[in-house]
Amino acid sequence: MIRTKTFSRLATVIATLSVLGLSCGGDKRDVPVPAFNGERAFDYIEKQVSFGPRIPGTENSQKCREYLIDFFDSLGASVDTMAFMHTDKTTGKEILMINVLASFEGTDTEDPKRYLLAAHYDSRPRAEYDPDSTKRQDWIAGANDGASGVAVLMELGNLISQHKPRAGIDMVLLDGEDYGPPGRLDEYFLGAKDMIKRNIADKYYFALVIDMIGDSDLRVFREEFSNRYSPQITDWVWAVAAELGETAFVDSVGYAIHDDHLSFMTVKLQSTVIIDFNYPYWHTTHDTPDKCSPQSLKSVGRVVSTFLYRL
Ligand SMILES: [Zn+2]
Repeated sequence: MIRTKTFSRLATVIATLSVLGLSCGGDKRDVPVPAFNGERAFDYIEKQVSFGPRIPGTENSQKCREYLIDFFDSLGASVDTMAFMHTDKTTGKEILMINVLASFEGTDTEDPKRYLLAAHYDSRPRAEYDPDSTKRQDWIAGANDGASGVAVLMELGNLISQHKPRAGIDMVLLDGEDYGPPGRLDEYFLGAKDMIKRNIADKYYFALVIDMIGDSDLRVFREEFSNRYSPQITDWVWAVAAELGETAFVDSVGYAIHDDHLSFMTVKLQSTVIIDFNYPYWHTTHDTPDKCSPQSLKSVGRVVSTFLYRL
């Protein structure tokens, strides 16, 4: 993802977002929510990092993807892959990128529309902000930037497979989110950009993106674009966090971030990103599991799972 201080043309692209006919809380506050296991989610970060850098098109990426496919398959989700090619603008090389979609059926089989959760499983090929200038061409481990979001989805998968929520839920593990050289937005969010070409807007009520939430010093502010263009879901997430007493969620806008949620918004799918962008190890070789904590994963997992079970 990329931080921005100015709003993009997105404002005009998504001038008209449909209003969701959803409600939160009220009679659904009594719906039981299974316990989210932060320790187990943390293990999933370590497992992903153990494959080495998950740079699109590499063998490590393939091995990690196969592991994720097997994982969701073992939970009883129906798992699909969506492949696409990307031409690297610097080298001209054609790179095969693959999104993974795990679909869970809800108890309400009458409702054809579903909810989308997204995280990126690729890790960045370069550490351009490393304090050591000799390491800025090195790859990053992507423990927080990448693996943490996927880890939360994996643990949510455990919960959902044991105890079905009402709603049908799709989880997409996106490739190529963090590929581009700094400032080259056309080479970021590649998995999400491919996905929106596949007529997904009518399939989902909204898309919730989870990224960089493993930081042991977790403070999740509202993200500016989410807050402005998808206020209903954003309000809802922060309301659940407040109700649960999850103080890592700060109820004010903290930053404007280019991430996969903006791609979903361009097809008029409401989307919010849950992200803690104040992470000193961002795009450095120090983005390793020891900077993350089970407690942070649990905070986010509790909020998102409660949110999901009330849908
Ligand atoms: Zn990144």
